[in-house]
Amino acid sequence: MREELYLAGGISREVFQKGEAVLAELSGRFEEIDRIAEANQLKVLQAMQKNHVAADYLNGTTGYGYNDAGRDTLERVYADTFHTEDALVRPQITCGTHALNLALSACLLPGDEILSPVGRPYDTLEEVIGIRPSVGSLAEFGITYREVDLLPGSAFDYEGIRNAINEKTKLIEIQRSKGYSNRNTFSPEQIGELIRFIRGIKPEVIIMVDNCYGEFTREKEPSDYGADLVVGSLIKNPGGGLAPCGGYIAGRADLIDRCAKRLTAPGLGREVGASLGVNRSFYQGFFLAPTVTASAVKAALFAAGLYESLGFAAWPSVKETRYDIIQAVDLGSPEYMEAFCAGIQAAAPVDSFVRPVPDDMPGYADKVIMAAGTFIQGSSIELSADGPLREPYRIYFQGGLTWFHAKYGILMSLQKLVDAGLPL
Ligand SMILES: *Cc1c(COP(=O)(O)O)cnc(C)c1O
Repeated sequence: MREELYLAGGISREVFQKGEAVLAELSGRFEEIDRIAEANQLKVLQAMQKNHVAADYLNGTTGYGYNDAGRDTLERVYADTFHTEDALVRPQITCGTHALNLALSACLLPGDEILSPVGRPYDTLEEVIGIRPSVGSLAEFGITYREVDLLPGSAFDYEGIRNAINEKTKLIEIQRSKGYSNRNTFSPEQIGELIRFIRGIKPEVIIMVDNCYGEFTREKEPSDYGADLVVGSLIKNPGGGLAPCGGYIAGRADLIDRCAKRLTAPGLGREVGASLGVNRSFYQGFFLAPTVTASAVKAALFAAGLYESLGFAAWPSVKETRYDIIQAVDLGSPEYMEAFCAGIQAAAPVDSFVRPVPDDMPGYADKVIMAAGTFIQGSSIELSADGPLREPYRIYFQGGLTWFHAKYGILMSLQKLVDAGLPL
């Protein structure tokens, strides 16, 4: 029955059986992923109970949004889950880049310097910081930037970092996930090690972690290891696939207050900002986020195992522990990138009939191809694939609201590669 449904869905018997063989090796790993989800489920649930989440919090406010108890309590739930003093969780934060820009521009003043000790940050931050000149960048406001590259093997260059920290260094930006770069994703423990080292040199420096794609992949978060701020997008892991938009910043109360005043206006801060109709989906999405993230981690592991078994290089390898939901595979040609994306798209519940093509994207330097047949537009906690069209034609694959949908999508990606000439 199950196999027949895959065949009816366009998967050949050979591709299906290849998938089953790879999965047979992964059962112990899947159990470990479920144990992490179980711990995170309890963490979120207990934060909701502790804060007395009530039925009327699921409704929203309009206009100024004064006295929005649902919005304010959700921020307490985030703070308690991330073990931080405070949090800002708002639909007015439009995306992850906006959340990061907000945190940076709230914490930095003219003459201050940002340091990235983990090499070049995520593509869209280049224009935020002004690494690529851009209207409204932090550079325009007299904020300078330095970066220290990682050493071979994604090791921290402690000597380089020590030399780069100076009297102007105000904020250190640590990106947890590899994003589109050529390095490993860091574990919260590794980030903790780096934070300890930095505190030994400049205790008062603000340490901000770009937590995008990392939330709930482990039992602990970078905020458990001393980060002052953790920042992310609600159309990734913590939105659980239900949040229709939004971003969060969790961390030190004085810094969250600055972020709120930058988001709205000095004097207004967090008191304003109507939640409209999003409270229910923010709560319910956060409640589902641990198991949704687990589905996405299983998907990443399966994709790595499947493509490695066919001789492709996968980052991380199937053997490695997961610290985010992103799986990269070097497909080696633009044709295979397009075929892979065609498969992910064809397997989607929405827009399964369209074919993704490479195009220019705001904030990105190269042409990008993206496959996403999602309920929430652009949501990358839903099954999606994307990548810049440049050597080594590396596809970045992520998400999956359910593991079974993700499995079908990955099998379909392979089916399209086989149809494009890949020998099995
Ligand atoms: C997705 C992502 C961002 C930017 O988030 P958007 O919501 O796409 O603006 C920043 N950093 C990392 C590591 C990301 O994965």
